[in-house]
Amino acid sequence: MRQSLDEILTECEKLHGHLCAGQLLGARMAILGCRLIEVEDPRGADRKKLIVWVEIDRCMTDAVSAATGVRLGRRSLKHADYGKVAATFFNVETERAVRIAAMDEARAFADKLFPAIENRKERQLCAYRELRDEELFKVEMVKVRYDEMDRPGSPRSRVTCIECGEGINDGREINREGHVLCRPCNNGGYYTRTADI
Ligand SMILES: [Zn+2]
Ligand SMILES: [Zn+2]
Repeated sequence: MRQSLDEILTECEKLHGHLCAGQLLGARMAILGCRLIEVEDPRGADRKKLIVWVEIDRCMTDAVSAATGVRLGRRSLKHADYGKVAATFFNVETERAVRIAAMDEARAFADKLFPAIENRKERQLCAYRELRDEELFKVEMVKVRYDEMDRPGSPRSRVTCIECGEGINDGREINREGHVLCRPCNNGGYYTRTADI
């Protein structure tokens, strides 16, 4: 990453609205992740090389996005709804991928390192700057499921659900006995229709 941690945090604060422990974790995760998969300039020359999966939709996610420039709307940011403070950084050219998860022990470290600071959040902010990567994160090499239908760029396919009549992009349909269905019509979704307006 070309920018310093402080420069990245300024960007994070702009996007996220405040500076918090999640911004520090996300920014440091992004710096480490990009270094390990050899993506040097994710917001510039290397912007087409990087895909990131985040495993939570909280503060950290905004920081990863601000630091690296990945965006849901560009398909460079993917959300897996696991509720974990973790992310996977993937270099599409080399296919190298690392998954980085914040360790719960880091909180205890924060309390031990800065007992004089009364506020827990302040303690975390200080500690998450000072702690070494090995104290903050668990890191593993992984292989990601990523195929043509997941790539950025124009939609690879478009079909229509026989049940609701809505269009479905990029192979997200279900084929049931020769009939094309969207996922919510096939198996229920996050909403149920109550009435037409
Ligand atoms: Zn926050
Ligand atoms: Zn449907």
